[in-house]
Amino acid sequence: MNPNRKPIIAGNWKMYKTSAEGVALVNALKAEVAGITKAEIVVCPTAISLPAINAAIAGSNIQLGSQNVHWEKEGAFTGEIAPAMLKEHGVRYTIVGHSERRQFFGETDAGVNKRAKAALANGLRPIVCVGEMLAEREAGKTEAVVAGQVRGSLAGFSKDDILATVIAYEPVWAIGTGKTASPAQAQEVHALIRRLLTELFGADVAGKVRIQYGGSVKPDNAKELLGQPDIDGALVGGASLKAADFAAIVKAAA
Ligand code: PEP
Repeated sequence: MNPNRKPIIAGNWKMYKTSAEGVALVNALKAEVAGITKAEIVVCPTAISLPAINAAIAGSNIQLGSQNVHWEKEGAFTGEIAPAMLKEHGVRYTIVGHSERRQFFGETDAGVNKRAKAALANGLRPIVCVGEMLAEREAGKTEAVVAGQVRGSLAGFSKDDILATVIAYEPVWAIGTGKTASPAQAQEVHALIRRLLTELFGADVAGKVRIQYGGSVKPDNAKELLGQPDIDGALVGGASLKAADFAAIVKAAA
């Protein structure tokens, strides 16, 4: 972490928790993280639970995120959700390009770029996910893959766009597997991403962009990961489903 960048811890609930279960979870979380201001706290429930969670977090230090967003304002796009529809229910952040979307739903950098730009145009802050597969890491392609995803996903971004964006580095082999990248492995890729941002937007802007790490972040490894100079927060899957675990990660950041 770096004092110039406020850490951001986001919980990706994926396709877990009914609305009632989500409200219970967020109520427990509210009590655990009350008063914390040194880290941003975001929860990203399933779309159908957004109104219920939005009501439950009213007046708290927890913000709402969605798990995706479409690029069009409206139209014949069955199953998709437009930015204004998310904003109507209090959404501030939106995950785009999560590896599960890329792997199972065919999302590409070009699509991620359109989603992120639409989010920004509507005042939502995208959390743009990038990360290599195990085979790519083993073939020595991590740098090329991540750099390609960053360039593709951020194509055409202005300085203001990137300043409103969070990047999440999530090595696919570490997501939901219990295998975390070592702090040094994660830092190496975060530094690479920041070098790329420097090339694209200049050092001043690159120094302000937050880059989260994601991939089996738990209370017992959060502090060491967040202690790396270019790791500015975490995108948390499994551990975000337990209030005490997620709160412990937030406290490690704060
Ligand atoms: C994720 O889904 O973004 C993630 C990092 O999951 P987990 O923490 O379960 O590995």
